[in-house]
Parts: sequence; C-alpha cells; structure tokens
Amino acid sequence: MEFDTIVIGAGAAGLSTTALLEQKYKGTGKSIALLEAHSLSGGCASYFERQGYLFDAGATTLSGLKPGRPISKLIQTLSLELDLIKIAPGIVSLFPDKKIRHYADERKWIDELNVRFPDIDNEKVWSRIFSISHAGWKLSTDFPELPLTNWSEVRTLLKSQSIGALKILPSLLTSVEEALQLNKIHNEDYKALINELLFITAQNEAKKTPMLMGAMGLTYTDDTYYVKGGMKAFATALEKKCSNLFFKHKVTSIKRTKEGFTVVTNKDTFTCRQLISTLPEWNHNDLFNEKIFNEKSSEDCWSAFMLYMTIPLKPDREGLYFQVHCDSIPFCGSKSFFVSLSHPDDEMRSHTRQTVTISCHTKPENWEFLSQEEYIRRKKNTEDFILDIFCRRFQLDRHELANIFTGSPKTFVKYTNRFRGLVGGIPHSLKRSPLNYLKAKSPYKNFYLIGDTQFPGQGIAAVVLGAQNLAAKLD
Ligand SMILES: Cc1cc2nc3c(=O)[nH]c(=O)nc-3n(C[C@H](O)[C@H](O)[C@H](O)COP(=O)(O)OP(=O)(O)OC[C@H]3O[C@@H](n4cnc5c(N)ncnc54)[C@H](O)[C@@H]3O)c2cc1C
Repeated sequence: MEFDTIVIGAGAAGLSTTALLEQKYKGTGKSIALLEAHSLSGGCASYFERQGYLFDAGATTLSGLKPGRPISKLIQTLSLELDLIKIAPGIVSLFPDKKIRHYADERKWIDELNVRFPDIDNEKVWSRIFSISHAGWKLSTDFPELPLTNWSEVRTLLKSQSIGALKILPSLLTSVEEALQLNKIHNEDYKALINELLFITAQNEAKKTPMLMGAMGLTYTDDTYYVKGGMKAFATALEKKCSNLFFKHKVTSIKRTKEGFTVVTNKDTFTCRQLISTLPEWNHNDLFNEKIFNEKSSEDCWSAFMLYMTIPLKPDREGLYFQVHCDSIPFCGSKSFFVSLSHPDDEMRSHTRQTVTISCHTKPENWEFLSQEEYIRRKKNTEDFILDIFCRRFQLDRHELANIFTGSPKTFVKYTNRFRGLVGGIPHSLKRSPLNYLKAKSPYKNFYLIGDTQFPGQGIAAVVLGAQNLAAKLD
C-alpha cells in the first residue's frame, strides 16, 4: 500500500498528527495512513473495559485548554466533539495531617499555601513560578517553528513577537531548587509538595529540573479537565478524523529507499515519501536494524506501577484527582501515588460505583527477569501498601473496594510496545543540553520523530504541541 505520509503509533501524538495532516491534505490528492499495533488507540492515554467498567489505562487528565494552548487549539482546528468538565481544585494533595487544594485561581492558590505554610513567602515563590510558566507557554505556542532545525528558523525566532519570552531562556540553565531557593526552606512537606508535583509533570526532582519546565509543570493544576467518557472519548474523537487507521498493524521493520521508506507490519507492506514515528526513540534501533539512538539516555526514565479498582459512588468527594503523599512505596521510586476517579455523573464509565486509576513511578528493573512467583509477590506487596494508605485517606473499608487489579512495566510493554515499558518521556533535566530541545533529532531525511521522548516531551498537551508544530512545517 502506498501513501504520501505514514504515521506510526495511534497514541495522542500519532492521532493528532494524522488528523491535522489529513485536514491539510484535503483537496491536494495527498494521502496519509496511521499504523497502530494494538486493537485500540490512545497508547499511554488509552482505556479498557473490564467487568462492566470503563477504565483509563494511564493518563486521566487533560490540560492545555487555556485559549491558545495546544489542546484548546486542537479541539478548535479539528472541531472535536468532546464534553469537558473543568476540575477545580485541579489536584488535592493529601498528607497524613493536611489537605492542600490546588486552586486554578492564582490568588486563591497562594492564599491556600499561606494558610498551610505561613512561614514561607508563597507570594514571592509562586509569582516567579507563574511568570516563567506564562512566558514559557507563550513562547512555545506563539512559535510553531520549535524545535528549530536550521539558521533561517533561528532568525525568525529572533525577529518574532515572542522575543520578550526569550528572556526566560536562562531559566533553562537553573534548577527549580536554586531558582526558588528551596534549599533555604526547611519545611519538609513543602519540599515534598514541590518535588512530587515535579515528579508527575517533569519526571524529575527540584534539584535536577530546569526552572522553565519546572514552572510549567508546577502550574499544570490550574488547567485540569476531565473528559466525559474518559480517555476513550478523547481517543475516539480523534480517530474519527483519521480515515486510514490500521489497527493490529505492528510495524516490524523499516527500510530506507530512494523514494522514501518501506514500512513492514505483521500484516502488510507500506511505502511512503515521508515517515513520522511517535514511538520512544530507542524502539527505532530494532525497526531500522541500526543503532541510531543510544539506549543509555533511557536510564533516567521511569515506568509506572498501576492499580485499578472501583469504589462506592460518592458525589461529594472534594475533587477527582489526588496526590497521596506517603513513605517510600515498595518497588517504586516516588513518595506519593496519583489517584484519579471517574466523574460521579459519568454514566459512560460506570453507574453505581466510581472507577479508580492509581499510578506511581517505578523502574523496569524491579519487575524484569523475575520468576512468576516473585513477580506476583512484588505486585501484591505494592498493591497492599497502596490500598492500605488509600483506605485510610479516603475513609473506606477494604471490603468496599472491588474489581482490583494491577499493572507493571511489563504491562506497558505488552500493550504499548514501549522500550522496557518506559513511559512519561525523558525526564527534564539540567543534564540534558538545552540544544536538545531546540533541534529535531531525526537521523534521516523525511523521517520525523515526535511523541514524549522528543521535543518538548511529557504529557498529552506536550505531545500534541509537537504534533501541531510538525504538521505546520510539513507539506
Ligand atoms: C500512568 C500514566 C499517567 C499519565 N497521566 C497523564 C495525565 O493525566 N495527563 C497527561 O497529559 N499526560 C499523562 N501521562 C503522559 C501521557 O499519557 C503521554 O505522555 C502521552 O499519552 C504519550 O503519547 P505518545 O503518542 O507520545 O505515545 P504513546 O501513548 O506511547 O503512543 C504510541 C503508540 O504507538 C503504538 N506502537 C508502539 N509500537 C508500535 C509498532 N511497532 N507499530 C505500530 N504501533 C506501535 C502503541 O501501541 C501506542 O498506541 C501519563 C502517562 C502515564 C504512563
């Protein structure tokens, strides 16, 4: 089968790119196809049905919906039919002795922090965070040429209206800890609040995360939305805009030819002029049968331990998204787990109960090369630890929990084919050269890489921004 453009992977990045390019190609005679290994779309933001309930498999929240931001633009450009509910407070952080509500309104959020942490100059800390975050968003959304690939794009950036935003670039070189002088703050809960929020957004801690990405991550809770119907509704709305979507087509090898590429799947052979892949970069070494990406850069990355269940429906819980702070979780790397509930009015997902998706950071090596017995023991151990704390913080008895099951990095390998089950992209880190963010890393002409291991990485809004910028550049 022959297409002008082929996109590999129907996660958020692949669905968005395909839909945007298909729209651009209308009336030009050009064609585009999307190849997906699994029988469902969504990837890390996918879904599954079990025992009559519809679960979000990984991602649960949508952000980037403020005017001009990636998801808001995507919905507008493609006229997506989505029923979105703004969740405020965006997240509730649950400590053993206090609750901190992340209000969307900046003033209200700072007031909440002043009540919980009166000894800290929250005004100063957070006005800096908000100002860098706003400028970061302005730069990334006003300037579709990012990542820069040649000098003419650098010149356009220097002349652009966003020039004011360039003054934030030094914050690429300072850590969140240094910029906010967190090392001079002695309240351990405050540090944990910042660190664990950074963990789920920038995938790194305050002393290693550049302030620019850190600030954008720390403010993501002011723009948190629930999609009615869950991630299934998001993925299927995009699917409708992709006419040539081939499910159960796992790409097994790619060859470069004079005209472009030959892409072989477990079912067919495709050819194309230009190829876009949304897979983690390390997956391509096998596909091209060439070592084009150094697997060493995957060492800092994380995978996730997942726990799914249902709980009794209670319409008056204070929010849908919770970061539960705790001690170290067995076989995991974070000191918190993230709890997402289905909306109590969302009848597409459940009627009498609420579905729960819990995730926390773990490393693949904790789950690889184990005997079946040891693998099951570790999963049970982690599950028991999380459920014990969950019951205490949500005031539930263990017998009120039902439909419980868990997933590990091996589950991500099985359902998303991601290298070692690594998810969430490459952690934002001072160790990573800022130039990495400013140039496309594709090794071959007419081969483009997007998705969460590429610029700007992490989260649905980020991979959609990558898709939008690429679709704007390509013909
Ligand atoms: C537990 C968890 C919670 C998260 N929570 C949030 C959240 O609340 N909000 C948020 O914005 N982000 C969240 N994220 C991050 C977000 O889900 C991801 O960054 C984003 O969905 C990545 O999209 P992608 O298209 O780059 O990659 P993927 O979602 O991995 O998509 C890649 C696709 O390629 C397919 N594929 C792989 N190999 C092949 C092959 N050989 N041939 C064909 N197809 C192939 C896969 O099946 C998959 O569908 C979360 C991530 C995780 C893991």
